[in-house]
Order: sequence, then C-alpha cells, then structure tokens
Amino acid sequence: MDYIIEKQRETYVTHECDVLIAGGGVAGIAAALSAARSGARVLLVEKSCIAGGLATSGLVTLYLPLCDGKGRQVSFGICEELLRLSIKHGAEARYPKPWLENGTKEEKEKTRFEVRFNPHFFAIEAEKLLISEGVKILYGTLIVDAVVENKKIKHVIIENKSGRQAVKVRSVVDATGDADVCKLSGEGTKEFSQKNVLANWYYYISNSEVSLKVLGVADIPDDEKTDENNVEYLSNKRFTGLDGDEISQMLCMGHQKMLDEIIKNRKSDKTHTPVAMPSIPQLRMTRRIDGEYTLDATQKHKHFDDSVGLISDWRKRGPVYEIPFRILYGKKVKNLITAGRCISTTDSMWDISRVIPACAVTGEAAGISAAMTDDYKSLDVKLLQAELVGRGVKLKESDC
Ligand SMILES: Cc1cc2nc3c(=O)[nH]c(=O)nc-3n(C[C@H](O)[C@H](O)[C@H](O)COP(=O)(O)OP(=O)(O)OC[C@H]3O[C@@H](n4cnc5c(N)ncnc54)[C@H](O)[C@@H]3O)c2cc1C
Repeated sequence: MDYIIEKQRETYVTHECDVLIAGGGVAGIAAALSAARSGARVLLVEKSCIAGGLATSGLVTLYLPLCDGKGRQVSFGICEELLRLSIKHGAEARYPKPWLENGTKEEKEKTRFEVRFNPHFFAIEAEKLLISEGVKILYGTLIVDAVVENKKIKHVIIENKSGRQAVKVRSVVDATGDADVCKLSGEGTKEFSQKNVLANWYYYISNSEVSLKVLGVADIPDDEKTDENNVEYLSNKRFTGLDGDEISQMLCMGHQKMLDEIIKNRKSDKTHTPVAMPSIPQLRMTRRIDGEYTLDATQKHKHFDDSVGLISDWRKRGPVYEIPFRILYGKKVKNLITAGRCISTTDSMWDISRVIPACAVTGEAAGISAAMTDDYKSLDVKLLQAELVGRGVKLKESDC
C-alpha cells in the first residue's frame, strides 16, 4: 500500500494520572469508579460525548440478569449499583420487583434480575457519579497511540479539539470494547471469527407512547446453530467492526433499514416517528486481548483460585461462571488490563461475557487492580480479592 512519512513533532504532555481508563462504556464507568474509590487519580477518555457506550449511545438499554435464573443473585458490587442507578428515575420495562422489593425465593426464581432503563437518564446519572467520585472525564477524545518502554505504557496519545497530546500514565484499563489500546501498544489480540450481524436499534413514538425497536436480532454463535434456531438476519453481510470504511458502510445500511421500517409503519400509523437513533456502531464482538488465560463457555461452575467475580449466562437458566483475573491481562504489556467486551474469552464464551453485567463485573476488578499496581501479573491476587469482597463482590459460586 502507498504510504507517507509524517514529520516528527513535539507532543505536549497535557495530563498525568495514576489510572487511565480508555473508553467510557459500562466497563469503563465501573473501572473508573472502582479505581477512584481506591484513591487513584483517574482520567477517563471517551471518544463520544456521553458516558455509557453501547448501553446509552448505542441504545442497548436492557441490563441483562445479575441472577442465575434459579432465584440466586451472582453478580454484585458495582454491577448491582449501576443497575439500580440506571433506573433511578424509573424503569422503562421489566422492573424486577421481587429482587428490588424483598420478594420470596419462589418469586425470584420466576423473574430474572434484569431491567430496561432509559439511556439518557443513565448516561447523565453515571456521569454525575463519576464526577462526584473524583474521576476526570475527557469527552470527544480519541486514543490514537501508546508509547511503550520496558514493556510498560508510559504515555497514551490522545486527539481532541485541543489537538494531539500525551497523557503520562501509571496503569491503563482498556475498556474500548475493541481492545484498541492493546492493539496500539503491541499487546496480543484476537479477532471475532464469526463477525457481526447488522443491527440498528432505535426509539420511536407512536400514539404518544415511546418504544424501543430491536432492529437486528442477537446473533447465534456458530457452534450453537441448529436447523431449528436459524434466524433471519437484516442482511447477509457481516462486519468485523475494525475497518473504518466497513463501519461507515454498516452504519449507512442500518440507517436505511431503519428508515424503510419507519416508512412501512407510517403507512398504517401516521404518528409513528423516530425519536432516537444509535450514535455509535452496534457491534457486539470485534477484537479482544489474547490474555494470560482464555475462558471458554464449557467452564461453567468451574472454580478458579484467582476469581474476581461471577457472571451468569443471559441466554439460559443455570450456568454461572467465575471470572479468573488472568483473562483480563495479556502476556506482553505489564501495566495494561482489559475490561468489558474485550477480555480474553473464546468465541462461544464471548457471547456470554460481552453483556452489560459482565462488563460491570470485569470493570470493577480491573479498576481496583489498576489502582493497586503497574504490573498485573505480579499483583498478589489475594489482596485484590480481599478488596473486592470488602466491596460486596462474591467471588465463588459456592458463596451465593
Ligand atoms: C445490537 C446489540 C445488542 C445488545 N443487546 C444487549 C442487551 O440486550 N443487554 C446487554 O446487557 N448487553 C447487550 N449488548 C452488549 C452490550 O451492550 C455491550 O457489549 C456492553 O454495553 C459493552 O460495554 P463496554 O463498556 O465493554 O463497551 P462499549 O459499550 O462498546 O464502550 C466502549 C467505549 O469506548 C469508547 N471508545 C472506543 N474506542 C475508543 C478510543 N480509541 N478512544 C476513546 N474512546 C474509545 C466508545 O466510544 C465507547 O463509549 C448488545 C450489543 C449490541 C451491539
């Protein structure tokens, strides 16, 4: 490919922090809160202009279950705090009454501890909480490079309205969803082999009632496809989510599908009008860290000595996974850890670990550890676990 060599330039170090959180989705919010609560100076860098990532800008407003589907809560800590925060001004749907109002075990068995929230309330409340905990937020700021020396990131390069700048860092949490900092710093990464289906969820109003249109269904992992569960997708084309041109093409296709759907509905209902469309691409699985360890969907109910939290399987009742700390960090860059969509899981586990509660669980563990160390592999995981337990997190399935 043709290329040019840019001029060398001085890049001013405009910020310095203990912990840089790359990306302000649910994982980044959880990581920033937990690092700040450990006393770290935290800078959260977010390319869009509100907090929440896919959950807010992406209009993915279903906070999937904190329970195992059999009446037992498994995800705690910031994961539960953020669920409650998301409905501070009321739930849009699926209010989990037995879970929030002292229901019986039988009632909890029938209702999953999940909720539909309003994305705008959640984004603003999360932002207020971050600021109140001392997190400095930089919106409209893209992370474009990482300067690594002696296997540690020393500076993260950002670009925003002020131009290109450097941030001096001690530890970094990659919560970009796409493992951008891993890629930029030379950490090992893997891509999602199945690629993403087209989706474009949006809100519309009809007869004075606002609803969420789930345009583009959830994908079924290749290894779970059967003749019976084959679903019809919006388009046959699939997207890596890692190519600028391809993402733009995906967005334009999604916008057109949305418009087609609205025009179709307006033929019978003149009040049918769109009120909100996603402002970041709706991509589920793109790129992840190639971690020190990789978790697989078959490892349900398996105990790990370095567990940092628990998640359930949103698709089924029963399965519970302990999250080993080793799936959050990689083999090359010592002071880089991941949280959320880009932790180290196999393709089949990825469909379980990518959802909002799991992003909050891994975010909390990543944030606390980032405040504790600049070398994750050397961290005494018992200290991290003690801190998590002190904050109400359950680490073993047998503790629930
Ligand atoms: C169509 C669809 C439907 C889904 N349905 C559900 C559902 O019903 N329930 C559920 O719980 N989950 C669902 N999910 C999954 C879930 O929404 C996301 O996986 C989860 O919210 C991801 O959180 P995250 O913080 O890891 O990543 P993200 O939400 O992707 O946040 C990453 C943040 O990093 C920012 N960022 C990225 N790169 C950079 C960079 N280089 N510099 C600066 N900032 C950067 C982004 O702007 C973004 O705000 C769905 C996902 C999709 C796409």
